[in-house]
Amino acid sequence: MKSCLRVVSIVLLVCVLFAAGCTINPVTGKKQLTFIPEHQEIALGVRTAPQFEKEFGGKVDNLELQEYVAEVGAKLAAVSDREMPYEFALLSSDVPNAFALPGGKIYITAGLFANMTNERQLAAVLAHETVHVAGMHSVQGLQRQMGAAIVAELIGVAVGGEHAESAEAATKLVAGLRNLKHSREDESQADEYGLKYMYQAAYNPWGMVELLELLQSLSQSKPGLFGDFLATHPLTSRRIEDVRDIIAQDYSAYSPQTPDPHGQHFKQMRGLLESVTKE
Ligand SMILES: [Zn+2]
Repeated sequence: MKSCLRVVSIVLLVCVLFAAGCTINPVTGKKQLTFIPEHQEIALGVRTAPQFEKEFGGKVDNLELQEYVAEVGAKLAAVSDREMPYEFALLSSDVPNAFALPGGKIYITAGLFANMTNERQLAAVLAHETVHVAGMHSVQGLQRQMGAAIVAELIGVAVGGEHAESAEAATKLVAGLRNLKHSREDESQADEYGLKYMYQAAYNPWGMVELLELLQSLSQSKPGLFGDFLATHPLTSRRIEDVRDIIAQDYSAYSPQTPDPHGQHFKQMRGLLESVTKE
């Protein structure tokens, strides 16, 4: 009887929470206000994806490369804190970049892939983006920036409205997502839990340090070429230090000197990308 009452009170509590738009962040387990339901979040990603893919030169036209990126991504999606229809793809743009759309579509550009030297760096960037999806960071940012009611209405029109209206609403959502700047808190969350996902997917977490150092050196050596990854993912030496601290504390069994067991395969794939993009 006692436990039954407890169940009833938990259900009541959950109802009260949902009525107020309060959900639990699947990554941190903390309460947060989310007004965009999950099916709308997924619809938002599906509706805006073609425009983003086009802007970044479309998907690289090679099945082996797409399957490779999808395979590495799938290992991270499998350990993520939120079940979503995750999809990972390689885009043709030579500007180094990576981003996630709400709902689980995650992209890396050829320009970033070509500058990496092993698979754990690829896993690091995909893990970081997977946390942005699992933690609902984009949809939270969008509702903060545009207002939840407006976002919900735009998604409704973009998905179900008349052709011209639908296109206009989709364009507004694309612009909103493009201008989105992740908060510093979301960035550290994506780094911290990205390390956890890497570890759970059997990747050496040092790949995250290598990735951040690569991004830092790319932004210094080719500032003009660099895309908006730095704008949407503020990169400071502080982030690198924080990641090093977490590794020292939680993943100290790993060493940066250990060669990546998938390093050779990665280099083959990078060679393949080079030959595909030369065509
Ligand atoms: Zn980020």
